[in-house]
Amino acid sequence: MTAKMEVADPYYRDGDKVRRDKVQELLNSSPYIKKADSLSELAQKIEVDISSFLSEVEKYNQAFDAGSEREPAFGKSLKQSKKFDTPPYYAIQLFPLARKNFGGVKTDLRCRVLDKYFEPIPGLYAAGEVAGMAGGHINGKAGLEGTMLGPSIFSGRVAGGWAAHEAGFGPGFVGKPNRPVMRGL
Ligand SMILES: Cc1cc2nc3c(=O)[nH]c(=O)nc-3n(C[C@H](O)[C@H](O)[C@H](O)COP(=O)(O)OP(=O)(O)OC[C@H]3O[C@@H](n4cnc5c(N)ncnc54)[C@H](O)[C@@H]3O)c2cc1C
Repeated sequence: MTAKMEVADPYYRDGDKVRRDKVQELLNSSPYIKKADSLSELAQKIEVDISSFLSEVEKYNQAFDAGSEREPAFGKSLKQSKKFDTPPYYAIQLFPLARKNFGGVKTDLRCRVLDKYFEPIPGLYAAGEVAGMAGGHINGKAGLEGTMLGPSIFSGRVAGGWAAHEAGFGPGFVGKPNRPVMRGL
């Protein structure tokens, strides 16, 4: 599996090619990666109950022996995986992160935050993710990749313009249509 491992950071790549030497350097030196020559040694290093760990790995390995397409506990596809039977073994600590949020507070076209009666709360503006980019209307319940940064920056521009206007500076911010408005529409 380590031969297939890729790390997204450019340090570990040479264009499209993966720098195996650097990936190996990471595997050898990261404080979040433990390496061992046996599964019980690995369990000790990551401080989990050895017998539970070994029996979980055994169940996983049995799924390969049975020719299963998915492992039984979580239903994960085994197509890209291999049995744990060739040392050295590695344990990698993962840190989940939230990439995007939809929702948050509702705003109007000036990015003023609205209360539960849809009335603007005086002096309160919001932009970006906390306001669902534009009151939650740009992405709705789902977003395509790349649809967050632009609306976040744009709604920041709108909120900033109108907040300054309320404080007595500038004309606010009204967007212009990016194509001619058709008559009658
Ligand atoms: C790994 C990753 C990849 C992504 N890739 C893409 C992509 O390719 N295209 C795309 O469109 N979107 C992408 N997104 C989503 C996009 O980055 C976010 O939706 C966008 O940056 C949100 O902007 P924002 O200004 O609302 O919030 P943020 O960028 O999170 O800004 C909030 C700021 O407030 C600061 N802050 C927090 N608390 C306080 C406080 N108490 N006082 C002062 N400051 C505070 C934070 O430090 C931060 O700088 C990605 C997100 C992640 C995590």
